[in-house]
Parts: sequence; C-alpha cells; structure tokens
Amino acid sequence: MSQKILKSIQDVPATFIGNNTDLTIDAIAIDSRSLQNGPQTLFFALVGANNDAHQYIKDLIAIGVQNFVVTHIPLECEGQANFFVVENTLTALQQFAANYRSLFDFPIIGLTGSNGKTIVKEWLNFLLSPDYNIIRSPKSYNSQIGVPLSVIAINEQHNLGIFEAGISTHYEMEKLEKIIKPTIGILTNIGSAHDEGFVNLENKIAEKLKLFEHAQVLIYNKNEIINTFINPEMKIFSWSFDCKDADVFVSKKSALDKTFLNVQFGKQRFDIKIPFQDMASVENAISCVMVLLYFKYDEETIQNRMELLYPVEMRLKVKNGINNCSIIDDSYSSDFQSLKIALDFLESQKQYKRKTLILSDIFQSGLSNDELYTKVSQLIISNKIDRVIGIGETITAFEKKFANCITYKNTAEFISKFDDLNFANETILIKGARTFQFEEIVSLLEEKTHETVLEINLNAISHNLNFFKSKLKPNVKIMVMVKAFGYGNGGFEIAKLLEHHKVDYLGVAFADEGISLKSAGIHLPIMVLNPETTSFPAIIQHQLEPEIYSLKGLHAFLKIAEQKNLNQFPIHIKLDTGMHRLGFEDNTIADLIATLRGNQTVKVKSILSHMATSDDLEFKDFAHSQIDLFEKLSCKLMTELQIKPLRHILNTSGISNYSDSQYDMVRLGIGLYGVSNDVEEQKKLENVGTLKSVISQVRRIASGESVGYGRRFIADKPTKIATIPIGYADGISRGWGNGSGYVIINKSKAFIVGSICMDMLMVDVTDIECAEGDQVIVFGESPTVTYMAQKLNTIPYEILTSISQRVKRVFYRE
Ligand SMILES: *Cc1c(COP(=O)(O)O)cnc(C)c1O
Repeated sequence: MSQKILKSIQDVPATFIGNNTDLTIDAIAIDSRSLQNGPQTLFFALVGANNDAHQYIKDLIAIGVQNFVVTHIPLECEGQANFFVVENTLTALQQFAANYRSLFDFPIIGLTGSNGKTIVKEWLNFLLSPDYNIIRSPKSYNSQIGVPLSVIAINEQHNLGIFEAGISTHYEMEKLEKIIKPTIGILTNIGSAHDEGFVNLENKIAEKLKLFEHAQVLIYNKNEIINTFINPEMKIFSWSFDCKDADVFVSKKSALDKTFLNVQFGKQRFDIKIPFQDMASVENAISCVMVLLYFKYDEETIQNRMELLYPVEMRLKVKNGINNCSIIDDSYSSDFQSLKIALDFLESQKQYKRKTLILSDIFQSGLSNDELYTKVSQLIISNKIDRVIGIGETITAFEKKFANCITYKNTAEFISKFDDLNFANETILIKGARTFQFEEIVSLLEEKTHETVLEINLNAISHNLNFFKSKLKPNVKIMVMVKAFGYGNGGFEIAKLLEHHKVDYLGVAFADEGISLKSAGIHLPIMVLNPETTSFPAIIQHQLEPEIYSLKGLHAFLKIAEQKNLNQFPIHIKLDTGMHRLGFEDNTIADLIATLRGNQTVKVKSILSHMATSDDLEFKDFAHSQIDLFEKLSCKLMTELQIKPLRHILNTSGISNYSDSQYDMVRLGIGLYGVSNDVEEQKKLENVGTLKSVISQVRRIASGESVGYGRRFIADKPTKIATIPIGYADGISRGWGNGSGYVIINKSKAFIVGSICMDMLMVDVTDIECAEGDQVIVFGESPTVTYMAQKLNTIPYEILTSISQRVKRVFYRE
C-alpha cells in the first residue's frame, strides 16, 4: 500500500522541498490531534473557514511527522521536514485520492441521493460482507473531504467498494466522481433536502447524476423527472411500485412491525420480509434488493439476509434518559425530509405513550417559512406528538401554528428553563440543526451511567474475519474459537455475527459454553475442546461435537453413545504432536484404530492437533516436526480406518506463518479479535474492543503529598489527579500501576500514579484539560492490548480474557 500512496502523491502537481527523498508513507492525516500521527504520516494542511492547519505543522514535526502537503512552508519549519508545496491543499488531497483510487480495479458502488445514502451503504455492507472484502465510507463521510479520506482507505485486500457522495451545490459532484469512479451507481431517494444550493429540483437531479457519468449501470427508482436527465446511452436497472415497465416491479404490504415486499423480476417472483415499516426504510431496502439481484444472488439468500436488516443508528441513537425517559438523539440535521424520517423512527421506537419533540429551526427547505412551518405543523399533528418544544428565532415566530407548543429563542434560554419542564416517562425526539448544539440538551437529558464498558466493534470483527479468509486457499474451511466468552469480547453476539458470515465451525473450551450458544439459537456446529466425562450426556443432548483426546475418554463417550443408540455421532480426534497438553500420542494410535474400526456409533468428523510455537519463528524446526508428525499420524488413521475426515492444525499465527499446512480447515482465534504478533499484519487488522470509563473526581495535590495505598506516589510538584472507577477486580493488572501504564483522556496520555486499587485507579492529569464525567479510554487503539501485554510481561490473550464480567459489553456497528 505504501508504494501506491507514494506514487499517488508524486503524481500530484507540486513542488517538492525537502532533504529526504527516500520517503515511506503509510497513512494520510488531516487532523493534527490524532494520536496516530507519526513519522510515516503524510499530513495535508487543509485551510478551512475557521481553521488553518498550517499552524500545527511545527507541533507535528516535534512529534515526528515528516511529510506535509502545504500551500506554503511556515517560517519556523523550513528545512525541518519534507514539503509538497501546492496551490490548494484540498484540491491536492482530492487529486491524490483520485490517483490512488485509479490504482485499484474492482467494482465500486457509488451512492448519492438526498436521503438514505448512509443507510443503504451500511445495509449493503452488511448484506454483501459474507462474500466480499468491502471498503466503504466510514459513517457519513461523503463530502469533498470525507470522500477522499474514505477512498484512501482502500487496500489490496478489498474486492468491493461502497462509497457515498453528498453535495450541496454545483460543481461538487464532478470532483467526487473523479475520486470514487463508481462502476455501479445507485440513486437513493431524491427528496427535498439541501435545496438551497440548487436552482430547482431538476437542477439538483442533474447535478447528482453526474456521479454516474462513467458507471456501467445505474440503479434507481424509475421516475418521470429523473428519466429525462439520464443519458440514453446509460445502462439502467430500475425498480418501481407503479410503473410496470421498470426492470423490477415491487408491491408491498405492511404487517405489525414489518413489511412484505413482492418482487417481480423477469420470470422471477418472490416475497421478501423486512423488519421495517416506514417508507424510507422500505425504499432503502429495495435499493439493496436491486443490488443483490444485479449481483445474481438467489431468492433464498436475498430473503434470508434482508430479514436481518437492522436500524442504522449512526445518526439516530436511542439512549436512556433521566426520570424514565427514553431519548432519540438526532442532534445532527434539521431538514424537512429528515424530520419525517425521524418522526417515523420515533413512532417505531417509542417506549412510552407520551411523545415530545424538541425541534430547532428548519433549514434547507426551499419553501417560504410560512409554507414550511404549516407543513411541519401538519406533520407533527399526523404523528400525534404530545408536546413540541421549539428552539430558534424562526420557529418562535411561527409558534401559533403548533398546538401544545412552547418555544425558546435559543438553546441557552431553553437550558435555563430546563428544570421547569418536568421531563418524565416519555419518549423525546431531539432533532436539531448542528448549529443549535442540541448535544447540550442530549447531555442534560441523558441518564448518567458512570460505568465502565467494553465496547465491541462488530464491523471490525467482520473486517478481521475477511482478512484471514483472504489468506486461505480455496475450499479451506474456517473454525472460529469463541472460547472464554469470545476471548472476553462476548459470546452470543459474536457467534451470531460469525453465523451470518458463514464460518464453518465454532470452537469452545467447555460444554457449558457450547450449550449456552446452542440455547441462544446458534445453529453452527460447535466443537468442544475439553469435554469432561460428566458433560457427555449434555453434549449429546445439545448436538455439540466433542474433541476426544484419550482412550479413556473415547471409551466413556462410546459407552454413553451406545446406551443412547446413537449412529455416526460426530467426534473430533486430537493428536498430540508435541504440545504435550491433550491428545493421542504415537504409541496409542494402534489402540485408537482398533477401537474405532467398524464402529458405527461415532464418526470421526475431523482430526486435529495444536502447535506449540506457531507464533515464534525461532522454533520453525519444531513447528515443522509437529506438522510432519501430524501428517504421519493422521494419514495412518485415515488409511487404516478408511475415512476422509477434515484435518486441521493451524491457529491464528499458524495461518500467517505456516500457510502451506492449512489442510482442510484452520482454527482462527485471537486474530479475529484484532490482535496479531506480526507487526505488519497487525496494521491490517482493526481494533475490536475499547475499554472505556469516566472520571469520577478531579483534585489538586501539593508537592510532597501522596496518592493511594502505601503512599507509592509522592508528588514532586503541584499535581492534578483524576480518579477512575476501574481496578484490578475489573481485570486491570496491578502491574499496570505506579507509572507503568496509562489511560487516554481527551486524546492525551494520563499515566497511572500509585497502586491500582480493587475498584479504582488514579492518573496524573496535570497537563490535561479534563473534568469529572469525561471519558477515559483504558485500552483500544491506544494503548493497545498488545502494548499492555508487553509492558506487563504477558500476552494479549490474558489481558482480554481477564476483563471481569461485571464490565458491561456494548456492541455496535459503525
Ligand atoms: C485457542 C485455540 C486456538 C486458537 O488460537 P489463537 O492463537 O487464538 O488463534 C486454536 N486451536 C486450539 C486447540 C485452541 O485451544
């Protein structure tokens, strides 16, 4: 990838001024505050309306950044780094991204429209990720800056891209088209949002369609006005509710909490169930179905996957509020179209009968205010909102149009009256334009849960899975180890995701772990690594598959299996090839063969062994001796018993280091959770778990005062200390205390002072601006568990699996 980055930047017209022409660049940055900026970062100094990033260059050089794209070299930085001097840094970023994109040649889906882009993008990602390595725009990165940043994340692993493009005025789409160069275009709902930048609706459509100028096909909802703007040469794949000559004709029927779609495509005709009712979701879902049809998925796959669609909470988040309220946070935008969507959402998500809407002035409608607020009022009435709280000068002027409405001129005025408003037992939609800073309202209404959580990024798990899948030879199966509660990350949720991704097997350590997965509805076959004899009846009852590693165990299992009259019950034979933990050794193979010969009660589903040194190339010879012995013993079993079971020996680091020995299956563990012991490979994995807490208290101590048990920290100057409610009982090793480890607070490192207590630890925040309630990151992107493990003289496995079950796990998709 770094070669491609280099080529892409060198092809941007620029004057290079610097002494080091031997550049290595592996990341692009525009945010000077990112902790990830380093020697191999190429920093684009963007110039915004309120902020000129050239002012951070000096500080960036001080932390080791060496390469910059600038319009001019700041005086004090001359001769201190490499500079690509350009006329306009944003244009350079865009040219760079376009160059970079053109070095890849795989299908790219480009989406635009007024509504639904992000949702369709997220859903397509979900629907297609079992079969593709997808790169997509993060969140709603669809702007002149967001698109280049999205595209730059493409790497050699990807084989499908999904990028969204958003514009608010003329000439913007041409630029985005050059960067995305979509091969497949999707036009989502065109709506009436963002009309301000365009003369009229037609003009807006024409501008948006520019994204598809070089696409091979355009997918859209057939519509008279749009048709007239489509280049007649363009291949189209259209759908419609009412126009029979669209390629796909759809009819729909709503049920209690879902919608049934009947899809007619040529001779095909079938039903799809989606777990949504509102019109916007239905349209977005159809866009997705169109892509699946275009990719020639069969009916059954389409049906199965569409049924699992989930609400994309990137913009609309439901949170627990104070006094039993539930709040919907849409403090993001306030156009009419998105208000409609949010109100639909409020209705479908409401936990309480009483509904309150907190609404700011509405922008970008293209209507006169009188017309607009009449429409808004009708919309609110039709959605049976109990009370409306309007915030803003304009909505205040139109207060009379609303029933049961109070208004405030601005957010500050509302906040000063907050205590009189008595929010309780209601669902509150908070919907406002960014400028109104409704996040302040959200934070007043949100329940303060001062608790530590382990956030699990499900997207990252999918990414990591696909990364390892891409290393497998064709037809090699994959077993994912979810023992120890998914390496501490959560059992069921991860198993559910793996089932969606169609892995072949799950592996657990003990029977009870397998039982709880099966009982929660996981259907994948599950191998139990260490089944105790007492658990055999339960294993059989729950259709788990035991690993058998001794003659004693085999006889015990056969005895129970015969009593139950089982036939061909799947078992897995574990061979000891040098790990010396569990397994049949060379000298027990003859007895094993004698016992299994002619036996119909069980069936050897697989033969496996485990490597002791797959992660350490110093022991290459030993590793090969294990593989050789595995080959020899497994062949003997297969010939003598005339069976052809699956064979597997590789764990995560085995996949990386001994890829010739993939046999029929591999057993992926730690890699799925984002950890590799190879530095290069680590860069390609995404972080899965982030352990977060909050500051309980901040205090200042004088020089000479101490912190914590045993006075192990004594301040040598006036010091500011923050206390964080997480301790060794939560799984944070005491060895991490006394200056060894740190947490991240407001993007800065805060070192742990004194000894870690059972439920708390204290950090030095003298140089960090922070307050009670601020977020604390204990591990995640930084510090990584790998770094912690090094410092603590252990391995990442131990850190991950030590996090106590009293720490709540929160799962999210980006
Ligand atoms: C845990 C385990 C694995 C997975 O190992 P990782 O190093 O986490 O990939 C594979 N096989 C067996 C037998 C295991 O116990």
